[in-house]
Formats: sequence, C-alpha cells, structure tokens
Amino acid sequence: MITRSVASVDSLTWQEQLAGSIRDPKELLHLLELDSLEPDALELGTHGTESLTKSLLGQALSASADFQLRVPMAYLQRIKKGDLNDPLLLQVLPLEEELTGAPGYTADPLGEQAANPIPGLIHKYHGRVLLIVSPNCAINCRYCFRRHFSYQNNKPGRNEWQQALDYIATDHSITEVIYSGGDPLAASDRQLLWLTEQIAQINHVKRLRVHTRLPIVIPDRITDHCLQWLTSTDLLTTLVIHSNHPNELDHHVGHALKKLSNAGVTLLNQTVLLSGINDSVESLQALSEKLFQLGVLPYYIHQLDKVKGAAHFEVPDQRAKQLITKLMAQLPGYLVPKLVREIPDHPNKVPLL
Ligand code: SF4
Repeated sequence: MITRSVASVDSLTWQEQLAGSIRDPKELLHLLELDSLEPDALELGTHGTESLTKSLLGQALSASADFQLRVPMAYLQRIKKGDLNDPLLLQVLPLEEELTGAPGYTADPLGEQAANPIPGLIHKYHGRVLLIVSPNCAINCRYCFRRHFSYQNNKPGRNEWQQALDYIATDHSITEVIYSGGDPLAASDRQLLWLTEQIAQINHVKRLRVHTRLPIVIPDRITDHCLQWLTSTDLLTTLVIHSNHPNELDHHVGHALKKLSNAGVTLLNQTVLLSGINDSVESLQALSEKLFQLGVLPYYIHQLDKVKGAAHFEVPDQRAKQLITKLMAQLPGYLVPKLVREIPDHPNKVPLL
C-alpha cells in the first residue's frame, strides 16, 4: 500500500525516519516513478511497459526475500526519479543477479565467525576490537559484507556488552574499540552514552572509532545528544562515515557533518569501489573534493568483500589500480584514499598500490 510522498520526512525525528524506511519494493518503484517507465527509456527494446515493470518488480521481490530492501526516505530524496542507472538507486535496488552464485563469493567473506569469541565482539586485529552495537541498519546496501551475518547470535544488550567489556578489560593489548553493526548509530544515544562511559573506564583503551552510514542516509541522526556522548568522553573519538558517491552528500548531510567537525570530532570516510556506481575517476575525484569541503578526509577505498550475492559489483584489481593511479594525478595525496582489500586472517588490511 503506497501512503507516502517523497517530501514527507522533514517533520520526522530520526527514530521515526529509521522506523519508516521503505521495505516494500513496489513502493520504492512507485515513488521513483520506475513503475511507469516507457520501455525505450531503459533501452530494453522489445519489452512492453507491463512486462518490464513486472520484471523489475519480480526481481526486486525475489532478491529482497533473501536480503530485505531497506531505504530511508531521506536517502530516497537524493535518487533521480525515473533513472534506473542512478548511482544511489543501484546501491539499494534488489536485482536478480544477487541470486546467482559466483566462484569465491561466500556468506562469510572475511571469516568473521572465527573471530567472534563472544557474542557481539569481533577480534580480528592486534590492539583493536569491534563491537556489534546494533544489529540494525537504516539502509540495506546490496553489496554489504555482513548481509548474511548472524545477528541472531550477536544481539547486543547489557548482558552481552558486559561480557564484551570484561573481555576488553582483561586484554591489555586492546587500545581501540570500534563501534560497528549493523549501524551503531541505530542504537539510542542513551545506550551509546552508557557504553562509551563503561569503555572510558578501562584504562588501556585510548581510542573509540565509530563506523556508521547513518549520517549519510539519515543526517538528522546527528542530534545534540549524539554530539554530547561523542565529545564528552576522554577517549579520542573518530567517526568513519561510509559514503560511496558525491550525490550522497547533499546540504542536509553537509549540515550534519559540519556539526560533527565543529564539535571537534575527527571525520574520515571509507568507500567501497562498486562497478557501475563509482568506478570512474570523475566520481571518485568529486567524492574526495566534496568530502574535504565538509571536513572529512578520504581514508580507505575498499575492494569489494566477496560476499554471496554481490559479485556484480566487483571491479577487477587491475582497473581499480588504474583508477587510483589516475586519481593520484588529479588530486593532492591527502585527498586520495588508500586502495585496500581485507583478507581473512591477515593481520591488517592489504594495500593494493
Ligand atoms: S550500512 Fe553498512 S552494515 Fe548496513 S547494510 Fe550498508 S554496508 Fe551493511
């Protein structure tokens, strides 16, 4: 049932926007005017409008049964209506390709199950642990390396967090805690304040890193309460936003990022290199330049993690290296993100250039 208009988020809180994310493929296609496209707009020639619509909807329904569609309205507003090649749409639209297996693509591409000593905690690298602070995301990115992750066995709550805190307190080599998910900012500020206070009491932990896509997809998430727990701690705090394309950085996102940088939060960006979405020098250059304008340093550009269902997003290594080499010729070094791949059991992310 379609009940909303694209312009209906302005008066909603971030929690209401999170709860109201679009999950129905039919609604998504309707709001983006993709249910009434003329066939030649898609250059599909012989398809009639009806069969084309069915085909797109059929694909979205099948693929979203495997990994649910989820798009917040604030993100949808940045997608160009009627354009099936929109780079933001392609990150969220469930397609038939996801259901085709590909060699080397697995449910747990980073071997995280083997690095999950207690629920809600992943310990992959020396000196750092990752906490699954929330199992929820505001958006379901189709290339997500955790799209098959067992959140059921890693449900965060005070009991699990207490176990995780005990683990961190016992291991004196841990100097950095990373909030992850799902999206950690899907948790409430009250929960995040409590957790951050507990971590700050562990003397050997010096740094807190928050990996989140929420400031990009629902910029209203950056509330005064959020700024308060991020900046009132003695931990050195870094926020790593996950933006993949310059079109994601509209003035609402810019306003949220300015609030964070004005409050003294260190801001970095991590991008996934995605075929047909951001695999051009122009996109990557515009992304880096826009990020820097908003107080964010480009940090990593990741080769795709080989998760089952995402093979169609892969950019071959050779092409990835060519793109970054060309980017280096266009931008100062501090605006060129490091091209890396994560390899299970490797002690660090592996630079490819
Ligand atoms: S926001 Fe991150 S964790 Fe959530 S679906 Fe997207 S890539 Fe995965």
